[in-house]
Amino acid sequence: MATTLKQSQNFIGGEWVDATSGETFESTSPADGELMGTFPKSGADDVDRAVAAAKEAYEDWRLVPAPKRGEILYRFAQVLAERKDEVTDLMTHEMGKVAAEAGGDVQEAIDMSYYMGGEGRRLSGQTTPSELRDKFNMSVRMPIGVVGAITPWNFPIAIPSWKIAPALVAGNTVVFKPATDTPALGQRFVELLDEAGVPKGVVNIVHGGGGAVGHRLVRHPDVPVITLTGSRDTGVTVMRNGAENLKRIHLELGGKNAIIVLDDADLDLAVDGIVWSAFGTSGQRCTAASRVIVHEKVVGELSSRLVAVVEKLTLGPGWEDDTDVGPVINQSALDKIHSYTEIGVSEGAKLLTGGEIAAEGDLGKGFYYRPTIFGDVESAMRVAQEEIFGPTTVLIPVKDADEAIRVSNGVRFGLSSSIFTQDVNRAFRAMRDLEAGITYINAGTIGAEVHLPFGGTKDTGNGHREAGQAALDVYTEWKSVYVDYSGTLQRAQIDNA
Ligand code: NAD
Repeated sequence: MATTLKQSQNFIGGEWVDATSGETFESTSPADGELMGTFPKSGADDVDRAVAAAKEAYEDWRLVPAPKRGEILYRFAQVLAERKDEVTDLMTHEMGKVAAEAGGDVQEAIDMSYYMGGEGRRLSGQTTPSELRDKFNMSVRMPIGVVGAITPWNFPIAIPSWKIAPALVAGNTVVFKPATDTPALGQRFVELLDEAGVPKGVVNIVHGGGGAVGHRLVRHPDVPVITLTGSRDTGVTVMRNGAENLKRIHLELGGKNAIIVLDDADLDLAVDGIVWSAFGTSGQRCTAASRVIVHEKVVGELSSRLVAVVEKLTLGPGWEDDTDVGPVINQSALDKIHSYTEIGVSEGAKLLTGGEIAAEGDLGKGFYYRPTIFGDVESAMRVAQEEIFGPTTVLIPVKDADEAIRVSNGVRFGLSSSIFTQDVNRAFRAMRDLEAGITYINAGTIGAEVHLPFGGTKDTGNGHREAGQAALDVYTEWKSVYVDYSGTLQRAQIDNA
């Protein structure tokens, strides 16, 4: 373990401080139980101090020219790139994902920071002709104020960057609350922002639980924007709690993503896509393929090839070279995942492989679950409807492409989708008809790039998007500006009628 952060603090107004209560909580590794550090168990007072600091800092930050704000993000990307190995290693220990994926998580934050740094020289609005003579019209993006950024543990560096980079380049200041399972990574993120030259008070971190720190941020009258990535239930609570102050609430929630494999698919490619999408990050991705919808003509062949590959996957700590699948995040995740195995069996699904906690040897020190595949699954079963968030996927046989699309759409979520087919007509129909924010053709359900919008339809969110130019819509408000240089009173809709 390269870096262990002991006794961390909150970062408020450019100072490292303890929680007002003096209380702390511990972060431990899901891979082997190692203590990662202690963190302030903050409460409403700490949030209030951070919001006050962010509000004060906003008065100057909003006036810093956007290209200069972008340059700081550019520097942050460089600093993060220099520390990529160290942060990657920390992630394998604190969050548990395997090193290649942890490196990808960090790289995504680097890419996002460069991308949003570039937005500092764009942040484009529109200019339009006026309906009146000697008048000029334009719309400009305005920052909103203090943004409350509340993040989950599964992308502990990438997700904070998706929120904080666009918020900053647009001229907002931030109070960041990372997940309590990955506080050391949240801390490192903010330390590196500080090192990159973000001014005092512009980014603040307050550690602690959702019910205390997150709740206060959502209720705080001086935080006009809340951006949350988490579960559907948390999203509903946050939206309800933010309603009283008419907050802008940006929600990125759960998924029940499906890969469709048609009878003309390249099956080897499909198997590779399924293994990567279902078992990468131990299935703990919002875009994980927790359903595979297969044409009945190829379901037998696909399932035997898939099971053969999956049974060769090696479980272990993410930092070891030969590990394919790391631990899941904590004991309650392990219990939840196993309870879905029991549910699947009781619903009559056929357990093809896995279905058990792996505890032999050193695995017993962490939270490991064997990659699990159910066959003979029907779309209405709970294992085919509910987000399990672990290394479990289900095979649902269908008769044709139309049924495949119907089954894919037959869940409450709509984040990512995928189809394997060689037929261009079927591919284009799927692009049109799949009810999801993301569709992949001949690739699995994971692998988003930072310059395209990221988010989902239906219960996956509330219509906003992260990443790409679309992210700026969350962190800015439009102002329309009319400049009349005629020297006379010109009345729109009247004098030109
Ligand atoms: P979670 O909902 O338990 O927690 C997310 C964050 O919200 C945490 O920081 C938590 O402390 C905070 N929180 C909890 N209750 C709160 C409250 N009442 N008020 C304010 N904040 C509160 O989710 P998790 O277990 O950390 O993450 C897994 C979930 O996140 C899954 O459902 C997954 O699909 C989803 N996710 C979605 C995306 C996406 O982009 N759509 C990406 C990653 C993860």
